[in-house]
Amino acid sequence: MDISYILNEYAEDRENYFRAVSPPIVQTSNFAFEKVDDLRKSFEDEYSGYLYSRGLNPTVEILRKKLAALDGAEDCLVFNSGAAAIFAAVLANVKSGDHIVSVKGVYTWARKMFENILPRFNVTHTYIDGTDIKNFENAIQSNTTVIYLESPNSWTFELQDLKAVAVLAKKNKIITIIDNSYCTPLYQRPVEMGIDLSLQTATKFIGGHSDVLGGVLCGSKQMMEKIFNSEYLTVGSGIQPFNAWLLIRGLRTLPARLERISRTTTAVVDHLKKHPLVEEVIFPFNETFPQYELAKEQMSGICGLLTFVIKAKNIDAIETFCNSLQHILMAVSWGGHESLIIPACAGIKREDFIASREQRMLRLYAGLEDAAYLIADLDQAFKSMASLS
Ligand SMILES: *Cc1c(COP(=O)(O)O)cnc(C)c1O
Repeated sequence: MDISYILNEYAEDRENYFRAVSPPIVQTSNFAFEKVDDLRKSFEDEYSGYLYSRGLNPTVEILRKKLAALDGAEDCLVFNSGAAAIFAAVLANVKSGDHIVSVKGVYTWARKMFENILPRFNVTHTYIDGTDIKNFENAIQSNTTVIYLESPNSWTFELQDLKAVAVLAKKNKIITIIDNSYCTPLYQRPVEMGIDLSLQTATKFIGGHSDVLGGVLCGSKQMMEKIFNSEYLTVGSGIQPFNAWLLIRGLRTLPARLERISRTTTAVVDHLKKHPLVEEVIFPFNETFPQYELAKEQMSGICGLLTFVIKAKNIDAIETFCNSLQHILMAVSWGGHESLIIPACAGIKREDFIASREQRMLRLYAGLEDAAYLIADLDQAFKSMASLS
């Protein structure tokens, strides 16, 4: 299906709502039935019709269909956050006694689930360096039911060879789950590479305006139906109609925003690479990136997140740099219109700073501003810190 068709027309039944270009927000909690028998059928199979908006809802349905098509998947569920999508995908595929192989450095709340919640139910995990397929082979146990991937991750951008992992997992009857938030299905299509479940936060690129949270989970119809009837309905973490509508709106401009962000990011990366106060720029499309060839092969576009290692002898230099930025905001998240920065040293106590490479990392997200505007902001902040570094 053509991406333009998916984003602009597909799954919209305009003749049913006055040919309105923008779909209605069906802001209802429940749906009424004319006949007892219809109600009975709905109780028997809630996945086939509208009963209650914790389950299916027409506005959410438009979004689900578009997102499934974008991922090249049979079906999709949309959650109230990316974290909820992660939780449902994993929970649905483990039971007591099972084991998960996860790449290291995955999203914080995936880690917290592996480390703090699942062990209470006797589900164990092994973190591996996912850059080498041999590490997956070595970590798989007889009770491994899930391989959890994030390619690339959002700080240091290590990739996994998705096709190779999919082949290995299928041979061992293991479910593969990927967090595809960095690329979105526009720039990486894991389901087509054999991955079972592809998830992403919709809060970032799909929403695109830093005003809504959401999470996407795509896979087979059978798997989505299983998750719908269990985790989705039980936890009640589905997206609300208004938020779904905001995400449909975000989708309209997703390709245009990503194209612009790709160009801006390239310009910012090129500038940072030349800057005397930058030791290193970590970015999957740098020719010096260890997995550059794999990045070119399985990712079709450049996204807005990059990390740079700043030359700073002390934490004051880094803090001065960040505090001096006039336009780039200091905040978590990414994928919106606004450029953002997070220094790794914000995650440690000041007295623990030893100027290691990790502690001197800053993660930058390039938004929709002009590249020159962002570069000028970075440059003036470098000037402010120069005397301290
Ligand atoms: C933000 C993020 C999530 C979680 O998404 P929320 O919508 O914030 O719950 C998951 N994975 C990655 C890589 C993220 O950056």
